[in-house]
Amino acid sequence: MAGNITFTMIKPEAYQNGHAGKILDMILSKGFRLSAIKILNLTSKQAGKFYEVHRERPFYGELVGFMSSGTILAAILEKENAVEEYRKLIGSTNPANADEGTIRKAFGQSIQMNAVHGSDSDENAAIEASFFFSELERC
Ligand code: GDP
Repeated sequence: MAGNITFTMIKPEAYQNGHAGKILDMILSKGFRLSAIKILNLTSKQAGKFYEVHRERPFYGELVGFMSSGTILAAILEKENAVEEYRKLIGSTNPANADEGTIRKAFGQSIQMNAVHGSDSDENAAIEASFFFSELERC
């Protein structure tokens, strides 16, 4: 059975450019419920741990540098079949290939600065949500 939570981040360039409100509006108007939210600045060590699975990929260092370069907004979203539904809403990794109406199409600048993160499986959604939020911070 598909899970009902996913984890998202509004990445530094999108937050810096003032797009957080519009992105949250797109998320909420698609029927997701916010069950946790915060803004923070990741250290490079924290960003490196979050993206550990990409350690061997050539862009790992650059990605970690980017994700620790400024404020991000982290949130847990709730909806039936949340992971798949949210991946549809965010669009392709490369904004140039993202469909109209997706968050990455609207706000992504490049394959790296693609506005938002979205979990790619129920298992990772649970791991990522717990990485950022304690039980007490979740409603
Ligand atoms: P996602 O699940 O759609 O976010 O994509 P991936 O899990 O494949 O990659 C994680 C993140 O790494 C992406 O969201 C991008 O920010 C970044 N990324 C992916 N591919 C590339 C690439 O080819 N070059 C660079 N610089 N960054 C990339």
